[in-house]
Amino acid sequence: MLGQMMPFQLTIQSVIRHASRLYNDTEIVSVTADHPQHRYTLGDALARAGQLANGFEALGLKKGDRVATMAWNDFRHFELYFGISGFGGVTHTINPRLHPEQLIYIMNDASDKVLFIDPMFVPLIDAIRSQLKTVEHVVVMTSDAGSVGDYLLYEDFLAAHSSEYAWPEDTDEHQAAALCYTSGTTGNPKGVLYSHRTMLLHAMGLSQPDALCLSRQSVILPVVPMFHINAWSIPFACAMIGTKIVFPGPKVMDFEALTNMFIDEKVTLTAGVPTIWGGMAQYLQKTGKKVPHLERMVVGGSACPPYLMEYFSKEQGVNVIHAWGMTETSPLGTCNSSLPAAASSWDADKQHQQRLKQGYPVFGVELKIVDEAGEELPWDGTTQGYLHIRGLWICDGYFNQPDTRGNDWFDTGDIAVIDEFGCMRIMDRAKDLIKSGGEWISSSDIENIVQGHPDILQAAVIATAHPKWDERPLLIVVPKEGVQVKGDELLKYLEGKVATWWIPDDVLFAESLPINATGKVQKNELRETYQDYKHA
Ligand code: ADP
Repeated sequence: MLGQMMPFQLTIQSVIRHASRLYNDTEIVSVTADHPQHRYTLGDALARAGQLANGFEALGLKKGDRVATMAWNDFRHFELYFGISGFGGVTHTINPRLHPEQLIYIMNDASDKVLFIDPMFVPLIDAIRSQLKTVEHVVVMTSDAGSVGDYLLYEDFLAAHSSEYAWPEDTDEHQAAALCYTSGTTGNPKGVLYSHRTMLLHAMGLSQPDALCLSRQSVILPVVPMFHINAWSIPFACAMIGTKIVFPGPKVMDFEALTNMFIDEKVTLTAGVPTIWGGMAQYLQKTGKKVPHLERMVVGGSACPPYLMEYFSKEQGVNVIHAWGMTETSPLGTCNSSLPAAASSWDADKQHQQRLKQGYPVFGVELKIVDEAGEELPWDGTTQGYLHIRGLWICDGYFNQPDTRGNDWFDTGDIAVIDEFGCMRIMDRAKDLIKSGGEWISSSDIENIVQGHPDILQAAVIATAHPKWDERPLLIVVPKEGVQVKGDELLKYLEGKVATWWIPDDVLFAESLPINATGKVQKNELRETYQDYKHA
């Protein structure tokens, strides 16, 4: 027997209706190229989203058409999220750090009709414009007519249209609303096509108390980019709840500017990758500054090094929340914001070790670990296996690749252990694990420890071929500026912290590590560079 409840559709338009009734006065603060500090309200943003939607109709766009954005986190990008998906289009967010060949590939693969860009990307688009087969209009997101070249000016595009727009009420929640490509470390990037329903269920999951715990009283500064995985749905969650947002624009690596925003806007919650928080910790330590209003900091995208959690929790009084996810999982998979009840009898070190894990699956997703034959493995905190996931916001195959569809579980490509409390710990990406004498060594565990050494800025551990053990770990480090550190000293530092046979055979020094478009170390490039490394 079917239930008898309304088939109410979970759509971006339903968020627009809700927010524009309730939260017209919620503040949105941004830094952009043309505004050192722009301040308006959610009501203003949604009115301008209406102008955009009228503009799309005037351009002749149809429902389902892809509209691309290549932009930092700011108020115009926020308006576009609602204007495009609210109109019935698909917001294709593009990572500007991708290689130009990949940019051309994804815009053609997505058949983008209109492209919105920040002014700083005009030269980049000029260089590839002739190869973009489907883009009919390029709009530059500024009010400064001097910086748009041959393209349309965003503020002119808006000014030509009314803010009165009848947001469609008949959108099916399963319709596509956004598209994001993985960064494609091997081969071409792959498109993940999110629906209205999955994005909003994800935003609701993300807002829960043991996840981001968003409320109308929170003030959030999302450092996670709106060009990658919809900034973890934070813009939608904020519009559902009426949370004030502070957008840092291009200032994501300007730690003085970021710190000032945290202080001046009384930011209570933030989210970003460890690289950002590492830089921020260094800046705060150097200047002795405090971010007194900050209560929660979500760290994800790669493993949170123990020193980061220790610094922010002990010195800044922040609850550091380790989270794990990927483009294919919208991204929230697991979150570690509090301890299970049993932990009340644990000592501080055991509690700290538990908090360092990637966390517990939030309601809406399910995890399992399996062996090479696909057999499920126990949740005992020690058995390692391939991490599989399924749930309300997990992708089923890639855009334009019908043969990748129809999966019951999604293989994340990560190796993990899960403990009896359901807390997951990533050991490594399967392709980064080192198999020495038939046993696995976690490169990420070693990196985390070395990164806690006071003289080390970055560390990477890769597998190198070994005549006896098949593979052995090689440690590559970038020391902090102006310090002298010896390889032997670093290997000694690892003693007692990992099993003896995990200790790398050698240490090499580098000025920098290759970083991909999402700020992660490109291990495949390192493996290529050091493929001829010979063990002594
Ligand atoms: P890409 O970097 O290829 O674009 P994603 O941004 O989707 O892919 O990253 C997903 C991957 O990032 C995960 O499969 C996992 O390996 C890694 N990752 C994400 N969060 C964490 C974390 N908290 N700890 C360790 N690894 C993480």
